[in-house]
Parts: sequence; structure tokens; C-alpha cells
Amino acid sequence: MKILVLNCGSSSIKYQLLDMENESLLAKGLLERIGLPDSILTHQATGQDKYRQVMPVKDHTEGVKQVLHILFDAERGVISDAKEIAAVGHRVVHAGEEFSGSVLITPQVKAALQRCVSLAPLHNPPNLLGIEAAEQALPGTPQVGVFDTAFHQTMPQHVYLYALPYELYEKYGIRRYGFHGTSHRYVAQRAAEMLGKPLPDLKLITCHLGNGCSITAVAEGKSFDTSMGMTPLEGLVMGTRSGDVDPAVLPWVMREEGLDTDQIDNLINKKSGLLGVSGISNDMREVEEAASAGHKRARLAYDMFIYRLRKYIGAYAAAMGGVDALVFTAGIGENSASVRSAACSGLGFLGVAIDEEKNRSQEREKDIALPEAKVRVLVIPTNEELVIARDTAEIVQQNQ
Ligand code: AMP
Repeated sequence: MKILVLNCGSSSIKYQLLDMENESLLAKGLLERIGLPDSILTHQATGQDKYRQVMPVKDHTEGVKQVLHILFDAERGVISDAKEIAAVGHRVVHAGEEFSGSVLITPQVKAALQRCVSLAPLHNPPNLLGIEAAEQALPGTPQVGVFDTAFHQTMPQHVYLYALPYELYEKYGIRRYGFHGTSHRYVAQRAAEMLGKPLPDLKLITCHLGNGCSITAVAEGKSFDTSMGMTPLEGLVMGTRSGDVDPAVLPWVMREEGLDTDQIDNLINKKSGLLGVSGISNDMREVEEAASAGHKRARLAYDMFIYRLRKYIGAYAAAMGGVDALVFTAGIGENSASVRSAACSGLGFLGVAIDEEKNRSQEREKDIALPEAKVRVLVIPTNEELVIARDTAEIVQQNQ
């Protein structure tokens, strides 16, 4: 069974085609700059060279057609017919309180996702455009929605509510939803496999550290708490996002700097975090390098990133009454040995102790804790597309 996974952003479509017989990747690619005369398609069939094409792609409908076109291409493609695609799995950012798991897309599901647009005005509209485009391009092929928020729907109410007037929750759904759920779910499952224990028996803290960063307390196999909130801004320090701030700072800055709501939104989402503090970059590699070379604000940004992360790890260990394993994933979590080392230092009181040699080894998936340490520390490359494809295949089989 071949599954096409689509992740549609405002001007981009990321795709992967997987063969679920052996969960192998057949091809992947990215179409960028949709809506511009020089859209760029980067495509790679497994085992072949990367192929790049510049062409005008006016919208997502046209974009999905181009993706299929290259997948069917005699030279660079990997399939010959649309019928070979058993189903399409869509990454959808926000499902509010509508869905706690992946679902087959129906008109009712699309209407529910439309209701969530106000919660994710930048993400849900292109996700919906992608669904409609795939429906048009592959009529009759099942479409499945896999939501970033779904895994966190198990958070108890006293964990997900803000201490704001309760009516705001009732009227607008203002609460914490959490994101990166597909990634946290995948690494939690994989951690249980690596540890040889059933997931429900474990207390895990999963750290997804990429451009966006979030951390989740997984207890009894479910998300119990997560650092991102109603939007993907709350919590950890990120590339360009501030994470937690005293909310009263925002109206204060708006008044003093004469900013409107869009400008303050832009400041906390695009100009803060590692970039805002260091003044040089949102990329952890560059921040680490500059910090090592003595750049003071880069050092400060790095230290703030680590401190916030460590604080959350401690908080989640307390929230769950213990922790069996810490998991590091995504760009920074998978690749930065120094971030992992710094985050774990000072956590000896919890039973965290890592083997620096293992931490710095080239292995992609590994347990870097000292053999005698109470808490395992795992590095697990995330694979959101695989989860989307698995969910899609499962739902299609159930509905056959
Ligand atoms: P992601 O969003 O998961 O693709 O992660 C992207 C981020 O990972 C980039 O912004 C980098 O800051 C970070 N990253 C990738 N490789 C490394 C590395 N070797 N060391 C530190 N950070 C890295």
C-alpha cells in the first residue's frame, strides 16, 4: 500500500511517498514559493540524485498537480498511475477540541477544521487548501487528517486551562492545546520499544527541539502536559519565538513602542528567542559557535535556552512524580551533543547522568545515559511523516 503524505504551508507543499509494505520511503520533495513566478520544486526519488525545477505554480491546486506529475514522471518518478496511491495523509496543525486522533476526511471533518481556523489562522487555511487540492487531483482516493494537537487532547482540564475568566474558554476555546503531537507520540512509542517496556508503564519527558521547541510529559502512554499552548508560542525558548513571558509585558511594550497587535505578534513570533537575544541568528549551530567564540549575547541566548529547558524537565518530573527516560529529538535535540549535555547537567538529583562519549558518537538513535543511571536518556530521530502514513494506512484499512 502506497501512501502520499502532504504537509501544506502557506506557500509550500512538503511531500513524501511511502510504501507501507516495508515502511520505505519511495520519494520526497518540497515545492516552495507557491504563488510566485519562480516556484521551486526539489524532488528526490530514493537512491537517485536530487532534482530541482523552477516554474510558476499559481496555487495549491496547481501545486499538488505538479507533485503528482513528478511522482508519475517516467524518468524521475516512482509510480506510473494515480491508482497506485492508496490514500493521502495530511498534516493538519490545529484540530482544537474536535479530534483526539487521526480521522478520515469527510465534509463534516472539513467543517470542523474550518471552525479551528481562528485558533491557527496561519496554518489551518493552507492545510485545508491542500486537502481540497488533493481531493480534486485524486478523486475517490481516501484522505486522512493527522493533527499536531491530537496527542495532547488527553491533558487534564486543570493542566490545559489558563487561569483566565472561565467564560473565555467557553466562548472561544481559549486553553492550552499543545503542538508537535505527532512527533512526541512517535518518539514516546519508539522510546518504549528501545527500553523494551510497555509505553503505559513509563514516565517520559520528550523534548522536541527544532526551529520550534516543545516538551511533553508522557505518563501512562498519554500526553499529560506540554509546553506549547493555545498557539505554538508558549514554553521553551525557540529560534525566533520567545516562549514564556509575563503576559503583562506585551501591552506594556505595545504602549511604549506604539505597536499594533500584528506588530507585537510579529515581535514575539519572529524577532524573539535565540535571534532576539543573541542578535545574530535563530540557528542553534550559529548561536553555539558564536557563544564558544566569546560572543556575549550568543552565550546568554544559549544559556537561556538551556535553563528554560532544564526548568521544564524538572517541572514535568515533579508533575508526573518521577521520570524513567528523557528523549531528545528534532534538529537540535538529535544533533547538538552540547545542548543535550548542558540540559542534563545539574539533573543528577533526578537520577540523570550521561556518558559523554556516547552522547558525542555518530549513532543516530541511542541511549546516552550511563549504564548505572536511574533515568535513561535517549536520542531518537523523529519521523512525523511515517506516523502520518501509518495512521493513514490504518484508517484506510479500517474503512475498507
Ligand atoms: P528542525 O525544525 O527539526 O528541522 O530543526 C532545525 C534546527 O535544528 C535548526 O534551526 C538548527 O538550529 C538546529 N540544528 C540542526 N543541526 C544542528 C547541530 N548540529 N547543532 C545544533 N543545532 C542544529
